[in-house]
Amino acid sequence: MGEPRTTASTCCYCGVGCGVLIDSEDGRITGVRGDPDHPANAGRLCSKGLSLAQTAQSDAGRALRPAWRPRREAPLAPVDWDTALDHVAARLADVVRRHGPDAVAFYVSGQLLTEDYYVFNKLAKGLVGTNNIDTNSRLCMSSAVTGYKLSLGADGPPTCYEDLDHADTVLIAGSNMAYAHPVLYRRLEAAREARPGTRWIVVDPRRTDTAAMADLHLPIQPGTDVALFNGMLHHLIWEGWLDPDHIAGSTEGFDAVKRMVRDTPPSVAAALCGIRERDLCQAAEWFARSPATLSLYCMGLNQSSHGTDKNLALINLHLATGQIGRAGAGPFSLTGQPNAMGGREVGGMATMLAAHRDIASQTDRAEVAAFWGVDAVSDRPGLAAVDMFQALETGKVKAIWIACTNPAHSLPDLAAVRRALRRAELVVVQEAYADTDTVAYADVLLPASSWGEKDGTVTNSERRISRVRPAVAPPGQARADWRIVAEVGRRMQALLRPGTPDLFPYRTPREIFDEHRALTRGRDLDIGGLDYELLETRGPQQWPFPAGQATGLARRYADGRYATASGRARFQPVPYRPVAVATSARHPFHLTTGRLRDQWHGMSRTGRIAQAFSHAPDPTLDMHPADASRRGLADGDLVRVASRDGAMVLPLRLTEDVPPGSLFAAMHWNAQFLNSGGINEVCNAAVDDKSFQPELKHSAVRVEKAELG
Ligand code: SF4
Repeated sequence: MGEPRTTASTCCYCGVGCGVLIDSEDGRITGVRGDPDHPANAGRLCSKGLSLAQTAQSDAGRALRPAWRPRREAPLAPVDWDTALDHVAARLADVVRRHGPDAVAFYVSGQLLTEDYYVFNKLAKGLVGTNNIDTNSRLCMSSAVTGYKLSLGADGPPTCYEDLDHADTVLIAGSNMAYAHPVLYRRLEAAREARPGTRWIVVDPRRTDTAAMADLHLPIQPGTDVALFNGMLHHLIWEGWLDPDHIAGSTEGFDAVKRMVRDTPPSVAAALCGIRERDLCQAAEWFARSPATLSLYCMGLNQSSHGTDKNLALINLHLATGQIGRAGAGPFSLTGQPNAMGGREVGGMATMLAAHRDIASQTDRAEVAAFWGVDAVSDRPGLAAVDMFQALETGKVKAIWIACTNPAHSLPDLAAVRRALRRAELVVVQEAYADTDTVAYADVLLPASSWGEKDGTVTNSERRISRVRPAVAPPGQARADWRIVAEVGRRMQALLRPGTPDLFPYRTPREIFDEHRALTRGRDLDIGGLDYELLETRGPQQWPFPAGQATGLARRYADGRYATASGRARFQPVPYRPVAVATSARHPFHLTTGRLRDQWHGMSRTGRIAQAFSHAPDPTLDMHPADASRRGLADGDLVRVASRDGAMVLPLRLTEDVPPGSLFAAMHWNAQFLNSGGINEVCNAAVDDKSFQPELKHSAVRVEKAELG
């Protein structure tokens, strides 16, 4: 019998990055509590965090042994680890030899730890020689990345969680924080109670639980955020509610933006958004004239065919009013996944290089290649998520390695994704669960360890790096993600570059972290002064944390100097553009998708415990009663919702929380609960031209009573 013990770790669900204490005994997790010493949550947990013990206690659905298919139509059959690893390495090396490195692609996940991400990135860009590595973080925050880089000169928010306590006006745009980031939402509520007079403006087409608590709710038409922010800026210029010192001393490009917003007076913007002009003007006044204004935003801005523009238009407001670089002020993108930030830091995406280096820069590529000891990092652009699966469908990409994510549920245009997976020569799926929609297409299944078993680090939304520690051993033969990748990497190196020094010599995650942090020296995210020992003794820390510093930096750009070459933040003129696929007589409804309070992603974890269904027991399509009555539909009717890309059947739920003309469906429900892969069956594959993030927040659809039988 093992002694009871407690292990400090980090919640695996969202970018708040709450600290948890895992109680375990005899190799089983017995309980999970909030860590009172973790700065992100000070002991608080939301319903998802509180259910971590139940999800971790169950081996239901876990992938316990490596498996492969001798033929595509055959069922997965168990195989030993060495055979599986040899097979994957040999098949991938064969594709590289026959078709070149860009015929291989890696699709990974914001659920991976930073160390896992680092090794995957090195395998793709350092050994295989392709930039075809992307992640499901592409679906959640890539527009925030491009927004920060274009305006402030570097990725990452300038803000920190403490700013929630100091803000006098909080603009929450495209985020139902009450469900998606509940611990931060509670902190915001506490701050409002402590500081009467604090105002919330919530921008959301739906009356979410967050919007219901707003002092001013702006229920804009889906996709019109840029018009709203440009109209607000027009009003601020007209009223003179600007910060001329910040504009003159710390920014460039204001005149071009000023000219651009001339076309968007509040009356025009309000009409485009479908809101009252006086509400828009009120929002602008609160934004500019409050001592400190904080913007919190998430998928509603990012998951758009012009998500970067939405980010830029909002940041323009902060730059024009000087609402940045002070306590309680600034633009603050909330990351959806627990380690989307860490993936960005190691450059684990097609459009990035390690430590925020630029993949388009010859100097940056040469630096990374020299550090890794490889000839070069490819200058050929890599494929971002949606393009990657389209290339798989057309045969340009032949083999794909998918880790810790479920694209057969989470990507848009699911019919095309399924065709792509069927067409591939080789699909490797590295997963903790053996029953996801994507595993059905795997030629090889590599069983990975899961939360409670993993060792490494994650970075939360406020740039804070926390340790993830194992409380128990993985079940069956499951292994750590980084170890699986390193094992395949070594085998591929022996086949592709025999006799060269081992690129994957790691014995522990600490060694990987040390290699990663060495690459950050001198960069904007420098963590040269931060190692596992310091995280052990002083707890989670924010970056940057260069060598010689006593602590990380809580708030960036406080001196009015930005990360651009000139040191000035760049205003970006971003005219309003409509959604990619407009509503029409044939498809008259705006469909938006989002999250439920107690579910997470495609339910691979939360879908296994009964209590996660108490708040929302069944999938629904939410519709305003007036729309239903016009169509002769009633609450509970089974309806077929169809776009030009796909269709699915859902029960109708009538609610005045969605405005007339709009619909809402949660994104969690998967093929285990539906007669389809999920609501993304109907979502189109349009992407933002700068961030390549798909427009999951808007589809044009029609609804009709389902024909049964
Ligand atoms: Fe986990 Fe996020 Fe909930 Fe915190 S707020 S307990 S990180 S799901």
